[in-house]
Amino acid sequence: MGSSTRIGDRIGRLIVAPEGAVIVGDMLSLKVCQALAAALEPRPDRNGVVSDSGNSPSDLYTAGGLFRALGGSHDLRIVDPDAVADAVDESVAVVLLTEVDYRTGRCHDMGALTATAHAAGALTAWDLAHSAGAIDVDLAGCDVDFAVGYTNKYLNGGPGSPGVIFLSEALIDEVRPELSGWLDHEAPFAFDLDFRPDPGIGRMRIGTPPVLALAALDAWEGVEMADVRARSIELSERLIAGVEASCPTLDLASPRNPDKRGSQAAFRHPEGYAVMQALIARRVIGDFRAPDLIRFSITPLYLEEADIDRVVEILGEIMATDGWDTPEHRKRKAVT
Ligand SMILES: *Cc1c(COP(=O)(O)O)cnc(C)c1O
Repeated sequence: MGSSTRIGDRIGRLIVAPEGAVIVGDMLSLKVCQALAAALEPRPDRNGVVSDSGNSPSDLYTAGGLFRALGGSHDLRIVDPDAVADAVDESVAVVLLTEVDYRTGRCHDMGALTATAHAAGALTAWDLAHSAGAIDVDLAGCDVDFAVGYTNKYLNGGPGSPGVIFLSEALIDEVRPELSGWLDHEAPFAFDLDFRPDPGIGRMRIGTPPVLALAALDAWEGVEMADVRARSIELSERLIAGVEASCPTLDLASPRNPDKRGSQAAFRHPEGYAVMQALIARRVIGDFRAPDLIRFSITPLYLEEADIDRVVEILGEIMATDGWDTPEHRKRKAVT
């Protein structure tokens, strides 16, 4: 039962959150819904929620569903990633952003945008799905209010591994959980009919922790995020240099400056889908993201130079020989 806060604290160290501010459990969409619902509550006089077109569509769907449940008076304003700061005014209750763009790896400036939101009296809810375990995140230093993340992406927990939620110290006593389960109660085994929230982050737990999935996260014991980030940059720079040298028809879609890039490298090609299928057929598993991106995620806990060099070699061979250009590789599958 203690694993949701024990592993929460371990992840908290990677994203610079104090002890007792992070808890794990449930799928990410549920955590997004929980954070957004709680963030809206202290600002009943404001109906604006700002997000951007670089956010995961999934988070925007979640927000839309929540707004319907809340009566339909909220207004989701989806702007260009560069226009977020300008869109924050005194009608905005919450700024809901994913820090690292899932397609290109472009990073938002979390500190600056959080300060902009606070100056307008808005709260922030940051999605760290592509940041936690991928880049240096400093939730405390950026004064973030709410954050969510996912152990199944760069924290390497694998599919089925749960979501994460963080609450700032200032909010932890105030937040009333909207999706309460019995384990959010201050005395769950009293089985009282009235709900009294746990005094700490336990109020965001919802249910029984997925202990088998959480056991995989022991891989992070004793790991320093700064070391992971340094390796991630080394490996992604190697990948980008190698691909650019051997594949002139692929264009880098990720920021070239590693400080502005998550732990991923994406390249554009008009036949990106078929290129990725050709890679997968040769046992290099990356992703295709519409309309034209092939994406490689760099996870230093289990990748090294030899893996990167193999990807470069295999991709170079596919591009040089048009190895992607077959009916089989063009055939669209359910998962890309
Ligand atoms: C992966 C991801 C999701 C989807 O999470 P699921 O549990 O697979 O539904 C939602 N939001 C963001 C930002 C993601 O990266």
